[in-house]
Amino acid sequence: MNELTVEIEDFILRTLSVQCPECEVVFATQALTRTPAMTRDTAVEADLHRVLPHPSLRAALIAMCPACLYTWWFSSFVEDALFPLLAVAPVEINNAKKFAHAVLTGRKINAHPLDRALLALNGVWCAREAGEAADKWLELAGQELEAALSDESWTGNRSRYHYIMGEVCRMVGDFHGAVRHYNQVDRRSDLPKSLVEHQRQEAINGNASPVTLPPDYVDAIFFPKAINLDDILGPEPTQMATSS
Ligand SMILES: [Zn+2]
Repeated sequence: MNELTVEIEDFILRTLSVQCPECEVVFATQALTRTPAMTRDTAVEADLHRVLPHPSLRAALIAMCPACLYTWWFSSFVEDALFPLLAVAPVEINNAKKFAHAVLTGRKINAHPLDRALLALNGVWCAREAGEAADKWLELAGQELEAALSDESWTGNRSRYHYIMGEVCRMVGDFHGAVRHYNQVDRRSDLPKSLVEHQRQEAINGNASPVTLPPDYVDAIFFPKAINLDDILGPEPTQMATSS
């Protein structure tokens, strides 16, 4: 470990130099270079995000150019060989607010609303991981996700995003909206039916609080089992006489 590396509960943040694709300035930014593998006991909430132990870990998923404020997924920046301490220093900014700049960049570059929604959702999660209010973030994520879902040409896993939209609506207290979205979730979402029904019931009961997933659901959603043909075929047929 050195001054360019920070370790937080087995996650590693490393300061690297990257080049801004907009203004070409080379600046230093933290990158998440080690993420421990998930297990069934990893903290995951019902809106399907993994809870990270520190907001700086999530903020490292995006990079923000200190010169022109262009902010986007870290993975879209090209790493530069310049020693990070010689590069332009990163912007001093609240971790969650970095995601607001990313949404703004998304609007400027005309990124799909789903990308902007995912950035806004990360803003929600980052704010919560920092112990800050997330209401405004949830509203922003809801707006962007609604826009993404109303784009009929987008053929991603709409069903799963209806579920996430249900969660966003539920957490902002729009329980009717939540039920409307949960009702549009089908098996293509690859989510346990009992989970969707449980969250629908939470909305009907007026519960706007985040919900932590029990390990069995984490297992079912993040570690789907390969279909075992034996389960379909049943027990071995009784000794077929091999004709000889
Ligand atoms: Zn720039």
